[in-house]
Amino acid sequence: MTEAEPAIVTGPTDDDWDAAVAAVRRLPPDGRVLLVCHVNPDGDALGSMLGFGLGLRRLGVRQIQATFPDPPEVPEPFRGLPGLELLVPAAAADPAPDLVICFDAASVSRLGELADRLAGPGTALVLDHHASNTGFGDVNLVDPAAAATSVVAEELLARLGVALDAGIAECLYVALSTDTGSFRFDATTPAVHEMAARLLATGIRPGDISRRVFDSRPFGAVRLFGEVLGRARLEPEAATGHGLVWTYATLDDLARHEQRPYVLEALIDPVRCTAEADVSCVVKQTGPREWAVSLRSKGATDVSRVAVALGGGGHRLAAGFTGRGTVDEVVERIRVELAVPAPGGGADRRG
Ligand code: 5GP
Ligand code: MN
Repeated sequence: MTEAEPAIVTGPTDDDWDAAVAAVRRLPPDGRVLLVCHVNPDGDALGSMLGFGLGLRRLGVRQIQATFPDPPEVPEPFRGLPGLELLVPAAAADPAPDLVICFDAASVSRLGELADRLAGPGTALVLDHHASNTGFGDVNLVDPAAAATSVVAEELLARLGVALDAGIAECLYVALSTDTGSFRFDATTPAVHEMAARLLATGIRPGDISRRVFDSRPFGAVRLFGEVLGRARLEPEAATGHGLVWTYATLDDLARHEQRPYVLEALIDPVRCTAEADVSCVVKQTGPREWAVSLRSKGATDVSRVAVALGGGGHRLAAGFTGRGTVDEVVERIRVELAVPAPGGGADRRG
């Protein structure tokens, strides 16, 4: 599905925050809340959703479900997250909750079979930080300047008067540290470190959390990475001379090494280290002629524009889309989009 043009340029207004607080506060005592996040959830999607769910529980909300589109698999790095007991498979998600809260999804197309829950009679509240967010909620808390959706989630919890505890903090910390690349990306503002300080002050252990989330993978995945990195290609002329590095992994690669698809999410990190390329790309097979594509830029290229042109979305420096056909066909489409000069002569702009 093609995403709409970027819709949101400024963060939530006071009226938006007030409407979101009111939507939570007017829940009846037995009110039912459904939390949803995007398909193939990452640390920010799961961490914001579960952290917020634990916060709602502290507020006294009893009927809380959290879910995401099939497959219902939680990636191993996130299997220690507090609040996992809130999760239900998509098929078991309340069909008509009083309040639906959506995390880290830029559009309803990212919610798969759960999209209909947003269209029900209950209030739909959207928390996100993608500039390409289409504003599909009744209330939209979308802050493109936020480093992660968890920044928005923490602010809403604070406005609801929920104090951070270690459970909430661990979820939000995983969300914040994954989306900032462990506090390395430009979105890592003083406010991000101040938030991290508030989270750490609850007593959570960043060393343990980081080891689980970033620095642990099965030996089979290490061997798989070796093989997939060994076939990476560097194309210095691509991306109007800024350079492209790319590789791919097939379902057969996963099967040979007995690995689950989510292990490939971390593969973009060693690929994007390539100094000679501004743009990096990993093409991950998801079906017979279907591929999940991850794109990253070091700054010279707006990969969100490329992803949107090819039916996906994301941020200026990190984006993705679903590709169809052969690997070569998918990569050729990316090459063609990357050959389009940036509007305004390549000036470095925020996405
Ligand atoms: P990743 O490469 O880590 O999967 O995704 C990078 C960024 O692109 C994330 O912000 C994610 O939300 C976005 N993204 C990845 N795949 C898709 C897609 O198929 N559609 C849309 N709209 N966004 C995507
Ligand atoms: Mn995010």
